Amino acid sequence: MRSRYKPWAADLIAANPEIVIPDPEQQKGKWKEVFGNDKPLHIEVGTGKGRFILGMAKANPEVNYIGIELFDSVIVSALEGVLETEGGIPNLRLLRVNGADLLEFFEKGEVDRIYLNFSDPWPKTRHAKRRLTYKTFLALYESVLPQNGEIHFKTDNRGLFEYSLVSMSEYGMLLKDVSLDLHANEPEWNIMTEYEEKFSKKGQPIYRLEAQFNE
Ligand code: SAM
Repeated sequence: MRSRYKPWAADLIAANPEIVIPDPEQQKGKWKEVFGNDKPLHIEVGTGKGRFILGMAKANPEVNYIGIELFDSVIVSALEGVLETEGGIPNLRLLRVNGADLLEFFEKGEVDRIYLNFSDPWPKTRHAKRRLTYKTFLALYESVLPQNGEIHFKTDNRGLFEYSLVSMSEYGMLLKDVSLDLHANEPEWNIMTEYEEKFSKKGQPIYRLEAQFNE
């Protein structure tokens, strides 16, 4: 996601360590203590400005959520969304880290579900390893999810969707609930991301799947 440089973003993030966790490596294995309860933990890798993860956290108080995003200038919008919410969003935390480092932040089985939404497509074959559904990323996800854990994935990008179907199926995952046009019959539980709103308004189909590790 492109976002203009925001020189104040790092300061706002640093001023809110209870929301954007500054030392997530120290919390590995202790996320239930961070949230102060035993609720399941769902994470989104590539959270962007946070529309989805904030919406999910507000709609599902019985679940804890963590949004993971690479850039200060992007995740700061999610932080602002939390700060603007009356009473805050107690079941949401944000991490300004690389999803490639998941193993540094979570123990096996500590994450109950992973969301990938409108991940960068990296269309060139030589960049395939950067796609968040490349086999090395799938192995990372498997390492933090419980047995039979799930990934829920949405995208507007047909090429990335086709690639992900193949990558997940070659990895041995069970593909479930594959939709080639989510908005043709939008489920009432669907929470749109920023990109989803933008592309669906243009009339582009939104692809979605749920995939389960098959151990
Ligand atoms: N999920 C949002 C949406 O649907 O509106 C944002 C989509 S945007 C195309 C992809 C986001 O993923 C960008 O903000 C990018 O910085 C972030 N991202 C890409 N690779 C990442 C990684 N390895 N770890 C964390 N965030 C990543």
